[in-house]
Amino acid sequence: MNVITAKFGGTSLADASQIKKAVKIIKDNPARKFVVASAPGKRFSDDIKITDLLYKCHAQSKNNEDFSGTLKKISDRYEEIIKELGISFDIQSEIETIKKNLPVCPTGDYPASRGEYINSKIIAKFLGWPFVDAAEIIFFDEKGILNEEKTFKTAGEKLKELNYAVIPGFYGSMPDGSIKTFSRGGSDVTGSIIARSVKADLYENWTDVSGMLSADPRIVNAPKVIEYITYTELRELSYMGASVLHEDAVFPVRKAGIPINIRNTNKPDDKGTLITASIPKNITKSPVTGIAGRKGFTSVRVEKTMMNSETGFGARLLYIFSRSGIPFEHCPSGIDTISVVVNSELFDNRREIILREIKNELNPDFITIEKNLASIAIVGEGMVSVKGMAAKIFAALAKSGINIRMIDQGSDELNIIIGIDEADYEKAVNALYKEMIS
Ligand code: ADP
Ligand code: ASP
Ligand code: MG
Repeated sequence: MNVITAKFGGTSLADASQIKKAVKIIKDNPARKFVVASAPGKRFSDDIKITDLLYKCHAQSKNNEDFSGTLKKISDRYEEIIKELGISFDIQSEIETIKKNLPVCPTGDYPASRGEYINSKIIAKFLGWPFVDAAEIIFFDEKGILNEEKTFKTAGEKLKELNYAVIPGFYGSMPDGSIKTFSRGGSDVTGSIIARSVKADLYENWTDVSGMLSADPRIVNAPKVIEYITYTELRELSYMGASVLHEDAVFPVRKAGIPINIRNTNKPDDKGTLITASIPKNITKSPVTGIAGRKGFTSVRVEKTMMNSETGFGARLLYIFSRSGIPFEHCPSGIDTISVVVNSELFDNRREIILREIKNELNPDFITIEKNLASIAIVGEGMVSVKGMAAKIFAALAKSGINIRMIDQGSDELNIIIGIDEADYEKAVNALYKEMIS
């Protein structure tokens, strides 16, 4: 292995002892040349992430409240890290810069980005490696979309020239030079971009679990680790709620065929999960790779006799949602019915307008709204060749007394998605795990 990009998440860098573990991992393999660092995360379950404290400072400043107490908490945490690492680092001048710039920031992007910025500078100092500011190598266009060409070229050239570097995750710069962050958890995306830019042989993602688990460990007791998974399966699972890796982190490396290895900073000998385009030939996998899900969906069911003969009915219905800026998650349909499943929070803000437009433009017989839905995806590339998968799912849920409100199978037969009441979510995940995986 020549070049590895290693990204360390917030819990892996939450305090000096965690940073020391990460640095040991980095030094253990000379191929680990490009390190992407998150901001310090939680040290214990009710701790507060530095990123959250920074967002809080910005919110306080917007409300004309004093944010110096919150900023002091941030400064104290870094002080402690610096002291325990035994390095000299002028944290106060970094904090002063934030204090000066924050009140004129229209959005939380700049303040939030400072968590990874400062942490990466500290880690670079501790390693004795160059620090490269993500704002100088990761670029967005006017619409806030990653400018891939410019980013891969600039980052690739700059980093290869240095040979080793620490780069902060989570942000880049807009054409006017201002800072823009990815969505939460976005350091995973930075890691993927850096791996692609330096043409790494491997993208390692170091976190606090020994890989992608076949179900959410907060719901299922000790779920199995997935040893091998394809980019496509991972994308499905992370989009559906398996939050170990940001759902967009797959794209930059997938195009270049760079494998991702999810590893545990606290158990560095564990092999973790290897994510590739296809599963190695000598590996036999069970049909279902994993289960993931989320709460917070609403289904809008529209019924109209002879809907099937009205050309463009579905398209017009979806257009009403898209005009309100609401993407649809699923859209199961029958002969005279069609349901649109959407994020409840987005829908609730536009509810009256959407319902009015459906009535006026589509003249339906009935509209039924079902709130508080959860959706669960059962994902596996092997499911396509096995008979009776859906029957097994129905049986598992029926046995646990769970009513299925919606069912949707992806056209590639990679996943089966079910909609259930939010109240049944945890029970359903456990029942499905038991039947399909364990
Ligand atoms: P990091 O700070 O390293 O980026 P995250 O908190 O973003 O880490 O992601 C790791 C966490 O994701 C785990 O601690 C675990 O609680 C959660 N998680 C949810 N679903 C899964 C899953 N299917 N497999 C592994 N972890 C999961
Ligand atoms: N620190 C950022 C967050 O908490 C980004 C990341 O950790 O990936 O969302
Ligand atoms: Mg994360």
